[in-house]
Amino acid sequence: MQTLKGLGVSQGIAIGKAALKESRPMTIPERRIEKQRIEKEIARLEASIEKVVSDIDRLINEFSFSDVEKEILHSHKLILQDPELRKNVVRILEEELIGLENAVHKHFSYAIGIFEKMDNEYYAERVSDYREIANRLLGHMMGYEEDMMSNLSKDTILILEEIPVSLLTKVAKQGIAGIISEIGSRTSHSSIVARALGIPAVVGVEGIRKITGQGDEVIIDGYSGEVIITPTDQKIELYKHMIEQEKHRSLELMKLVDLPSRTKDGVRVNLRCNIELPDELAHVKRINPDGIGLFRTEFLYISDNELPSEDEQFEIYKMIAEELNPKPVIVRTVDIGGDKLHNLINLRHEDNPNMGCRGIRLSLRHPEMFHAQIKAILRASHYGNIRVMFPMVSSLDELLRAKQHINECMNELRKNEIPFDDDIKLGVMIEVPSAAMISDTLAQHCDFFSIGTNDLIQYTLAVDRTSENVTDYYNPYHPAMMHLITLIVQNARKYNLPVSVCGEMASDRDFIPILLGLGITELSVNPGSVLTIKEFISKIDSCVLVELVLDILDQITSKNVKKIIVKWREKYGIKI
Ligand code: PEP
Ligand code: MG
Repeated sequence: MQTLKGLGVSQGIAIGKAALKESRPMTIPERRIEKQRIEKEIARLEASIEKVVSDIDRLINEFSFSDVEKEILHSHKLILQDPELRKNVVRILEEELIGLENAVHKHFSYAIGIFEKMDNEYYAERVSDYREIANRLLGHMMGYEEDMMSNLSKDTILILEEIPVSLLTKVAKQGIAGIISEIGSRTSHSSIVARALGIPAVVGVEGIRKITGQGDEVIIDGYSGEVIITPTDQKIELYKHMIEQEKHRSLELMKLVDLPSRTKDGVRVNLRCNIELPDELAHVKRINPDGIGLFRTEFLYISDNELPSEDEQFEIYKMIAEELNPKPVIVRTVDIGGDKLHNLINLRHEDNPNMGCRGIRLSLRHPEMFHAQIKAILRASHYGNIRVMFPMVSSLDELLRAKQHINECMNELRKNEIPFDDDIKLGVMIEVPSAAMISDTLAQHCDFFSIGTNDLIQYTLAVDRTSENVTDYYNPYHPAMMHLITLIVQNARKYNLPVSVCGEMASDRDFIPILLGLGITELSVNPGSVLTIKEFISKIDSCVLVELVLDILDQITSKNVKKIIVKWREKYGIKI
């Protein structure tokens, strides 16, 4: 038995069998082949090239890329269609009698090696083009994702270096017991999706792949972050007992389902859910939240190999709006980029994608994609209480341009006599420090704010939210966060603008009293937390919150912020 410790990012306990998978396709099989096999390998090469070229063509046709971007895509096609590629690979196959993947890998490594040696910007760019094409071609040849999906069952504990979000959405459909990775953080998107899907997950478990064998028995504890490999019978019994207790607690919490969320002294708090996938709806309805406070629509884009069409999106938004009507459904326009990069829009490589073309920036740069989504949301607004929200806004100009696109789409729908909610509410996510600083101005041009604390912490404290290397710097207790959130709330209040919090802070029992104390009465949290938070809020007396907030705003260190929170809880006997 061996016990390892990581970060529990999705609660729950499971006992299952280890399935170790490669999360990167680049372990090239060292296969040798017979001479007779060469023809077949060439046929495979040609089919793979054709497939990747047609994927690129599809991209070019579906999007309005800038001329520069089109040029890049065309140059990628040229790399694939270059007769030298075929000629070289065939030569390597014939001379070395090695498998196709290895031959292709050799060809590209050689070309990349040459470019790397040239001290010239043009060739430096070719290196990244060649790498990208090599990865796509090899990924296709090696059936990388299909392999990840094989041999999984309901008692599988998936073990990877890193969890790709697209994989998670797929495995969730067939069901697994838990997931463990060597790399990851609490607010990375795969962790958020694991929580949403209720899959126990522990990330940052360094070295687990070295000591675990395929099929080993594994216990995963998503509460404590503990992972036990080949546990003793005694440990298994202990954890089985804990699983029973967990079930009992869930049944107790289910008693709160039909009660409105209120503080002890009766202040109503709207407790909404963050969702990522339409599949979550059945579970969401069972826990009866006050609506959807954040629908992260990008997961519709990254869980498939094609962009969702306007009609497909319309059906999904309509279904959710109807199911929850009259409760609000806040649809966030697509927030791709950052750690959510995907291969459908061939973004230029960015060394620092979190600071790159993501969220509203990407939507504004791809108006066709943006319009398809806006029209789908507007059309669905006729069937329920839908609101729109823009992610990653960092300036007034972006908000005004986004609103301009909304107007254009509204005019088009009017012209075609398609009904929609004329008075649809438009909100801004406040998750970039510049947006927080100009929240006074933004408040005059939108209908609501939602504070995205996950990114607001990342950008304010200059700490990559997905890096396990700096988790200790990712510190929501930082006094800067307390002051920034206060500023946003004060600015919103001047214009009577509703403010909600939809980042992970909204489900953190250390911060809920502070947020309520600032006057925030709308929280949006992952579905699995709604009932525990409802229970927690019911223990809080709103009259004693002002004292807490004033005290917190006086603190100049994170340590003291934390201390004050604990002291306050002890003083009023609030258990978590
Ligand atoms: C946030 O940044 O707090 C947020 C809710 O958005 P996401 O986690 O999807 O970036
Ligand atoms: Mg965000």
